[in-house]
Amino acid sequence: MDAACPICGQVHPDALPELAFRRPDAVEALEPDERDGAVQESDYFCALRGERYFVSAALGLPVAGRADYTLRAWAELDEDNFYRVLAFWEDEGRVDRPTFDAVLANAIPGLPETTGLAVALTVVGPAQRPTLRIMDAAHLLHAEQTAGITPHRAGEYAAMIDGRLRVDAPAVTPAAND
Ligand SMILES: [Zn+2]
Repeated sequence: MDAACPICGQVHPDALPELAFRRPDAVEALEPDERDGAVQESDYFCALRGERYFVSAALGLPVAGRADYTLRAWAELDEDNFYRVLAFWEDEGRVDRPTFDAVLANAIPGLPETTGLAVALTVVGPAQRPTLRIMDAAHLLHAEQTAGITPHRAGEYAAMIDGRLRVDAPAVTPAAND
């Protein structure tokens, strides 16, 4: 049973919706006519003009006494690593779990700037979102990922969801190809 929050008095349900970014900010910023032909995109992979490469990933924040709260955000990788991640996505025989250097590609509201924040992206299995670990120990998000957050804070993230941020209908087929 969910108890009243000691901070705000409301009940924060255990199963809160993920704050999920539909696309990298650099892609969302394009006008529709610019976007046409410039972006190969799905809800899992994006390539922008064959110059910038993004992977959708899960950023888990431990919550005291509960399951982790997951932010779904985009990480930007260099081209070689992008295609390595894509190869893992498609190869059910792979069992190793490599980690790649990347940077966050979304500005998460309510935090110091998160675009460009150094992250480690770890492949966790075929057709599964990789996971992210924040590498900048001075950033608030690193502290939240390391020390965990309260159910109240998880409720604040869930409350940031609006039509622009939330993924409505995840696709299952990556569109990026080579
Ligand atoms: Zn609260």
